[in-house]
Formats: sequence, structure tokens, C-alpha cells
Amino acid sequence: MLESGGKKSAVVPLYGHALAPETFDPTPEIKALWGKVYEQMREEFGEAIFRSWLKPMSLQAAYHGTLEVSVPTRFMKDWIQNHYVARILELCAAENADIKRLEIVVVHGSVDSQGGTAVASPVKANVNELAEKLDLSSPLDPRFTFETFVVGKSNALAHAAASRVVECNVPFNPLFIYGGVGLGKTHLMHAIAWELKEKRPEKTVMYLSAEKFMYQFVRAIRAQDTMTFKEIFRSVDVLMIDDIQFIAGKDSTQEEFFHTFNALVDQNKQIIISADRPPSELQGIDERLRSRMSWGLVADIHTSTYDLRLGILKARCGHLSASVPESVLEFLALKITTNIRELEGALNRIVAHAEVTKSDITLESTLEVLQDLLRSSDRRVTIDEIQRQVAEHYNIRLADMHSARRARNVARPRQVAMYLAKQLTPRSLPEIGRKFGGRDHTTVMHAVKKIEELIAEDPSFLQDVETLRRGLTG
Ligand code: ADP
Ligand code: MG
Repeated sequence: MLESGGKKSAVVPLYGHALAPETFDPTPEIKALWGKVYEQMREEFGEAIFRSWLKPMSLQAAYHGTLEVSVPTRFMKDWIQNHYVARILELCAAENADIKRLEIVVVHGSVDSQGGTAVASPVKANVNELAEKLDLSSPLDPRFTFETFVVGKSNALAHAAASRVVECNVPFNPLFIYGGVGLGKTHLMHAIAWELKEKRPEKTVMYLSAEKFMYQFVRAIRAQDTMTFKEIFRSVDVLMIDDIQFIAGKDSTQEEFFHTFNALVDQNKQIIISADRPPSELQGIDERLRSRMSWGLVADIHTSTYDLRLGILKARCGHLSASVPESVLEFLALKITTNIRELEGALNRIVAHAEVTKSDITLESTLEVLQDLLRSSDRRVTIDEIQRQVAEHYNIRLADMHSARRARNVARPRQVAMYLAKQLTPRSLPEIGRKFGGRDHTTVMHAVKKIEELIAEDPSFLQDVETLRRGLTG
């Protein structure tokens, strides 16, 4: 099983204890030393790195001023060698100056030095089959790949983290992706799963929603077959659970998930979780589980920006082989800001309408087709009302909504009002411009983009605008 370490014939014990040449067993002193260094590593590198990389190291032998430590995979060996070995050696040498070298060997199936056991291989071999038979994994949407995922400021971190999970062996654990409805969490999860299937076919990847996890668990209890359930979930290489907020309040499911989670982390298996909010804000979730979920990397997807929405629409047009005028795309990107699913739905509708009626897509036809959708977000708010409330909110004169003054303290509120006018009323950009002291439509467009940028960057500004929006529509 040992991949290296063939040069152990001449044994020089570290403490002058005569070691039997055929065993090289570390002395109790060496074991204690390693235990101490182990704890120091945990402290120095932090829990997340420790869990992912260092915990699986297991002391195998001591000879020639060398400590031999095993890890379960070649990848881990390389990673530890490149990143941590020098420091670990320093820590060891500080305890015992005789230690001059740290040799890392790969022992397949070694798990951790706390006596964890490797997954029984028959189970492992059958996992895919079993999972399929039991319908445990959820199907992956063929459209949700990295190729079709458009990257912008609001999702750059989550996207980068997702890519890293595919490239690296357990770069952080768990990866926790959160964000509002329809912002691309599921898309990213599927993209990871697809990519892993392609690039790491040897890995068992299981993707399912938290609801489905719960359902399967309850079913297993009813069938009195929780053993199979546990075995399957504990023997995957990558476990992906979508919308974890759904297990809130479901105590036994949470408990089971927590144990699965721990078992997998202990085996250095990757866990990827998504939710509609950060771990700290998950309510009805056990404190232990909550804190455990934030040990790895927590990546959020913000509300989309105008540019991202436009980019997504353009990409979608490409996939649909539809030719849609730029002005229509811009209109949609400006108008439908809540959620990308709705944005895509709107595009699909106008494309389908044009196909059925064999007519071209124009701004007029778009307005007509999307009447209901656009009206529902309009709710009879007038530009006058918006100007009044925004002026009041920022404590500026109403006249400044129309004035030419460019001082930031009036220009910014004016931009907010333009942005809200665009979002909450059916008025066109030129119409809005006219209402703001006869400004050009490009000025309005600029204002909308600016505000969206600020919203994406600054949560307190977002709060501010949301308060105004609620005041106007509520
Ligand atoms: P969530 O799981 O966050 O509610 P989804 O992943 O289901 O959202 O995304 C909703 C829709 O929006 C899907 O059709 C998805 O493909 C699309 N979408 C979201 N973000 C992007 C993006 N950055 N690029 C392309 N499509 C996206
Ligand atoms: Mg989703």
C-alpha cells in the first residue's frame, strides 16, 4: 500500500531507543510530539485549512531524523509539500532538533489520524449505481454549465470559488454559496457537477436539493433502511446540497445532515451548499451546523447589475438563435431587475411571440407582450410622487429634482429618483428625462446604471433604495 519509503533499511532511532528495523514504529515520545505539532497546526493554519489539508496526515514512522507521515491522496501530498511542509518541519524541529526531514507518503485509504476509517470499497463501487437506483441524486439541467454562466461583478466571487472546486482537491470545505432567488445559485451548482463529471470522472458526485435530501431521509426511516442511506451519503466524494434553508426546523433531517457533513469533512470530501442567505442568518438551524457551514468559503451572489443582465440576455439570444434589437434587450435589462429567471422568461416570451406571429421583435411588441409583467411592477406610482418622496428622504428641495445643480448631495438623490422612475413607472427614458428638468435620455440611462452599481457595491445604499421603493409601492 505504501507508495514510497523504500529506503528504510538502516534505522537510526530519534531518541536512541532501539527500534525494531521491521516496524519503525514511532516511540511514545514521538507520538506525543506529533500530537502537539498537530494541535499547533490547527491553531496556526486555522480550522478550515487544517480540516482540508492537515488533519488527514497520519504519523507512520520515525527514522534517520525523519518523520514519515501518510496522506490519502497524491494530490494532498503535493499540496502539503508545496504549501505546508516547511512550516510543519519547523514546528517539529522546535520540539526536537533531531528531526530534520518530513517525508510524506501516500497511503490509499488512510483517512485521518483520529482513527477514522476509509469507506468500504464495495459500497464505494456501488454508490453511483445505488444512488441512481434509489433516485437520490437530482437530474442536472444541461443548460446550466460554466459555458453558459455569464460572469459579472455581482457573481464573480461565487464563480471563482466554483471553478476552484473543480480544479483543486477540496480547496475549502464547505463551499457555501448564497444569494437571492433566481440569481444563479443552482446554475453554478450544476455547472460544478457537470464539470466534475467531465474532468474528474473517478469522483462520485451527488447533487440534490435539501428538500430531496429530507424526503429521502424520511423515506429511509419509513423503510427502516437508514443504513443504506447513510452509507451512500457518506461514501460520495462531492456532496452538493441546494437550498439548505429548507431543512430549517426539521430537526432529525438536520441531525442526519450534520453527521453526514462531519463524516465527509473528516474524510476530506468536498461539500458544496447553497442557500438564500448566509449561514449566520439561517434560522431554525442548529447552532453547531450553522457554524460548521461557515468554516470553509462563504461566497455571495449579489443582485445583478444592468451590465450583467444585458450580458445574460445577449448570451441567451445567441443560444436561442434569436435576433432581438439591442434597444429591446436594453429595455428588458433596465426593467426586469429582480431576478434573472424572470428576465429570461420575459425574453423567451417575446421570442416565442415573434415566432408564432411571424413578426419582428420591436420595442412596441415587447411592451404589448409583457404588459402584465411590466404592469405588476408599476403599481400606479407617478414620477411626481417618486420625486417628492426621494427629496424628502434625502432632505433636499423638490425643485432640485428639476434643477441643473450638479453638487453630489443633490445629483445623487436625483439619480435615485430617476432609477426608481425607470423601475416603478411605465415611462420611457426620454419621458423620464423630460420630467427631470428636460434632461436627455442618456442622462437617465447613466443614472440608472450608476445607481445599480452603487447598489451592488454598498449594502447600506441598497437598504436605502429599498426603503424608498417599499415606501412607494407598499
Ligand atoms: P437560483 O438557484 O439562485 O434561484 P438559478 O440558478 O435557478 O437561480 O437561476 C435562474 C435562471 O437564471 C436560470 O435559468 C439560470 O440559467 C439563469 N442565470 C442566473 N445567473 C446567470 C448567469 N450569471 N449567467 C447566465 N444565466 C444565469
Ligand atoms: Mg436554485
